Amino acid sequence: MNDLDGMNESLFGATQRPVDDRLPRIHQLLLEHFGQPAAREVRDPLTQFIYSLLASRTKTEVTDQVLRELRVRFGSWETLRDAPVAEIERAIEAVTFADQKAQNLKASLLLITQRYGTLTLDFLAGYRTDKIRSWLEQFPGAGPQVSAAVVNFSTLRRRALCVDAHHLRVTQRLGLTPRADAAMTEERLMRLVPAEWSAEMLDEHHTLIKQLGQTDCTFNEPKCAQCPLLGLCPTGAKTVKQG
Ligand code: SF4
Repeated sequence: MNDLDGMNESLFGATQRPVDDRLPRIHQLLLEHFGQPAAREVRDPLTQFIYSLLASRTKTEVTDQVLRELRVRFGSWETLRDAPVAEIERAIEAVTFADQKAQNLKASLLLITQRYGTLTLDFLAGYRTDKIRSWLEQFPGAGPQVSAAVVNFSTLRRRALCVDAHHLRVTQRLGLTPRADAAMTEERLMRLVPAEWSAEMLDEHHTLIKQLGQTDCTFNEPKCAQCPLLGLCPTGAKTVKQG
């Protein structure tokens, strides 16, 4: 070992692993490709919860429109809660699995009212993020994706990564995580997230990955040859070689 090797070892530690910077690199490449995502409409926690219960497997524009119509039709979330399930189902029929979502929505809003005494989630601001998430996940239809969306996208603005179907598919193809559910995938991805990333940065990251999943890294036909992440993607490298 020469003097310089010795200096490197003492500076960086012989057993220290190189920093895994794939997530920041992916983020930068996606920003260069798509540009800065549009600013999110930051909702109060209850409205975000309702939105997220409706959103799975549904196009963003459709969920946005259904939420707007719910506000007009019912006037308040208390009126929505007290409406018959069949009426809620008719009001949200544009989203996928409207029958199941209508039942979950009504049951969740009733349970929140029973447990807190009034229909609001504003009180969650006083709790730790992990407590908020486990509390939210007890309601019908609310898994890790919903709880992450509520804590990260709403006025709570906590650190969490909302792993939806696009996020799962893209990060698995990129080899960032093995095949796993949303909770395990989020946990593994959070280990790669730089400590300095804020809640807003995680929201931006979610949006960029989702955009890639909706455009290039689609379910049926990933367009690897034109993908900005091709140089970092083992699946893309194989696909392009075969093609
Ligand atoms: S290279 Fe292909 S598989 Fe990899 S992220 Fe891009 S589109 Fe998806």
